[in-house]
Amino acid sequence: MSGYRKSRRIALVTALTTLALTLAPATVNAGPHRAAPYDHQRCGNTSGRVLLTFDDWSYDDPDLTVEVGDYLRSRGIRAAFFLINEFASQYPGITETLRAQGHWVGNHTYSHRRLPDLPEADARAEIRDGLDSTLLRPPFGDYGDRETRIASELGYRMCTWTVDTLDWDGSGGSLPDAATVRARVREAPAADKRGGVVLGHLFTHFPEALPGIIDDLRDDGYGLCRNSGSTSRNIPMPLNC
Ligand SMILES: [Zn+2]
Repeated sequence: MSGYRKSRRIALVTALTTLALTLAPATVNAGPHRAAPYDHQRCGNTSGRVLLTFDDWSYDDPDLTVEVGDYLRSRGIRAAFFLINEFASQYPGITETLRAQGHWVGNHTYSHRRLPDLPEADARAEIRDGLDSTLLRPPFGDYGDRETRIASELGYRMCTWTVDTLDWDGSGGSLPDAATVRARVREAPAADKRGGVVLGHLFTHFPEALPGIIDDLRDDGYGLCRNSGSTSRNIPMPLNC
């Protein structure tokens, strides 16, 4: 994007934000700006920057995951990976490497079943046998009070997303291509991106779309979570990334 278009776009966003703030009734929930209860969609991200997240597993090429992690690190970005432990537990080096690269690695359950459909003992086992961490991304983003309680008992906070790239949706006959995935992030509402969480998957065209997604976000004036060196199983709350 040219400097001219970029500055015009930033000016427009600023004007619209000012207008929205002017028009907002005083009683409206101030959302992430309030001294707020934990916001599961933002995973505790209070930084104002965008957190990119990568779910599931790279089935055809497990090493792609650490290549993505290395690329993100090279661009100064910390991301979060939510790996299915049925696979990740067979490749412990991948989690170790991602954390050494400065990324967070969270629990996405053991075998990616829809937790609310399971008897309580099975739902608990799916979480307990997931990748050891402090953030839980429930498969399909699907959970209720029971799952929140179990997760909390096992030391996890729920973490979903504010921007779904729909990169996983092959209902059109094939997965959306990289250009489509990139456009979905570019066109997502500003409020969902600033301090938000973007959902993508390791087995789709999301990794291929990544360079363009990062360029677009930066061109449009967004920051991305900063990479400041290695991480551990404990994902801080709040996320001041
Ligand atoms: Zn998943």
